Amino acid sequence: MPGAARVFVWLLQVATGALIGAMAGGRGGALAGVLLVLVALLLIEGRRAARLLAWLHDPAGKPPVGDPLWQEFNLMLSRQRRQHAAELARLEAEVGRFEAAGQAIPDGVVALDPDLRIRWVNRLGARHFRLDPRSDRGNLLTHLVRDPQFSAFMTRGDFAEPLLLHPTHQPGLALQVFVVEFGDAQRLIVSRDVSDREQVERMRRDFVANVSHELRTPITVVSGFVETLAELDPDEATAALANVLPLLQKQMKRMQSLVADLLTLARLESTPEPPPMKPVDLPALLTGMVADARAVNGDLHPIHCAADPGLDLRGTPGEIRSIAGNLLNNALRYSPEGSRVEVTWQRATDARGQVVGVLAVRDEGPGIAAEHLPRLTERFYRVDSGRSRDTGGTGLGLAIVKHALTRHGGHLEIESEVGRGSEFRAVFPAERLVSNPTGP
Ligand code: ADP
Repeated sequence: MPGAARVFVWLLQVATGALIGAMAGGRGGALAGVLLVLVALLLIEGRRAARLLAWLHDPAGKPPVGDPLWQEFNLMLSRQRRQHAAELARLEAEVGRFEAAGQAIPDGVVALDPDLRIRWVNRLGARHFRLDPRSDRGNLLTHLVRDPQFSAFMTRGDFAEPLLLHPTHQPGLALQVFVVEFGDAQRLIVSRDVSDREQVERMRRDFVANVSHELRTPITVVSGFVETLAELDPDEATAALANVLPLLQKQMKRMQSLVADLLTLARLESTPEPPPMKPVDLPALLTGMVADARAVNGDLHPIHCAADPGLDLRGTPGEIRSIAGNLLNNALRYSPEGSRVEVTWQRATDARGQVVGVLAVRDEGPGIAAEHLPRLTERFYRVDSGRSRDTGGTGLGLAIVKHALTRHGGHLEIESEVGRGSEFRAVFPAERLVSNPTGP
């Protein structure tokens, strides 16, 4: 054992000092010898200790070498130092892993001290609350998030329900803010982006409001007539009925169209996208549709139809009929008497040089101002509400067209100029097209 051996050596050295001292000067000499040896030992060991201390302060250089006892001491210290460094590296790796996990959380996270100072914030948390993860560390969160609602929420201290926050720095952003308390009065602020959910909820509310609004007029008209008729005696009622019947029919038809379009939209949204199904004879479908329109419209509009007889389209017949029907119907309803309507179906090349199938409906109607074009396919969006309703429009036709087209991998293009007319193009991708050399 180096410690015991060392003590033994020290004792031996002291005894040797005493012996030599005694031989030289008797009892007094022995005492002087002991003292001399002790002082020398103190100096030697003190110097070694000083060197060791200096190395401990600045461990960059080599550890001092001394006698086995000090070497053992050095060795133990170096070993502890290495263990300490390894433990530190392990802890740093652990913290790194924890930080990476914190960054990967799909919500914003801000860790707070008991006095609401920021300890740590992940990227999403920094974005949600507009914080700088480095420079804002140690600052009061309530000083940095200057929102009265948020401050009141944090001060109230009741975190059973999350706070719905609309940060002013990012319009449209909606956050659900949760506070999780843990440990010694520490807090985690968790922020979840619910903007999409809010938007869907807003759309749902708007949709319900729009449908109610659309139904209110026909229901009011019909119920008004029914109440008036109920107050008349039977003969008067029969005579009056003949007059109001066309009006009643018109309102009933309006409600029927609305319900039919709503059901079509609901079906488009709730059923999976159609696979590339068996070819639909689109030229025949268009010819039939145009013939029906001519029969209904009489001579109101000259309708010209030019469909490539050798080009069929893969898809769902009902949805393709809906696309063509809505576009033709709109052209007839919005263009003045006597103006020409043209329907074409052919192969074409798009701006990227890809082959596409284009079903185009052109009219010489009033045209549509550019600012309305991007919104035309929104539900219930109308440029001319009066004309739309007078002609039996529901405001859902182009929304249905867009939906049905998207399900067929296609899209809608609109070109229009006020006073010159409009062209609506349903564009289908090449994989939907089928050559039909035996076309009619
Ligand atoms: P609506 O049932 O009102 O026709 P749509 O969704 O089919 O609903 O069309 C939306 C709006 O776009 C219409 O209200 C109308 O203002 C405008 N629009 C559609 N087609 C034409 C067209 N060919 N010419 C002029 N305006 C049109």
